[in-house]
Amino acid sequence: MLGTVARKLRIFGFDTLYMKDINDDDLLKIGIAEKRIILTCDKELFKRIVKVGTPGVLLEGSNDLEDIVHALFKHGVYSINFDTTSSRCSSCNGVLSKGNYEQIRKYVHPNVIKWHKDFFRCENCSKVYWEGSHISGIRSLARNLDIKIKEKFAEQDMTKTNSHAF
Ligand SMILES: [Zn+2]
Repeated sequence: MLGTVARKLRIFGFDTLYMKDINDDDLLKIGIAEKRIILTCDKELFKRIVKVGTPGVLLEGSNDLEDIVHALFKHGVYSINFDTTSSRCSSCNGVLSKGNYEQIRKYVHPNVIKWHKDFFRCENCSKVYWEGSHISGIRSLARNLDIKIKEKFAEQDMTKTNSHAF
């Protein structure tokens, strides 16, 4: 359910595992062992996360933007600070390394090479990325997320301020 959230988080540079066919016991074990924040839409699983005292966030699973804002806000992340050089592979979460024309030539169509000079290649699955037309969409998504996160923190500050009587 959160597959598209996971892909976006990876593009934004967050080390994100996505485990679809895994039972809750194993998922909790991995979360604890690797000190991960578990994002889930499953209320029962979330209760267990709270019970064992490991970090987790319960998400709605209906809107990626809202889910990402909520997850980051809950863990004190103020900004996405999107930068393609810190992106991870959206398919497998692998680390991307910057490659040049010569290294990448055999992996991509010649037209791509004609129009782009910077490439990134996944060290795990070898998928090649470049700053194509989709990048402007990702940048605007990052901007929207940053705005929404800031609004959340501002709301929180307002609530805190209002709780003090003058
Ligand atoms: Zn990969």
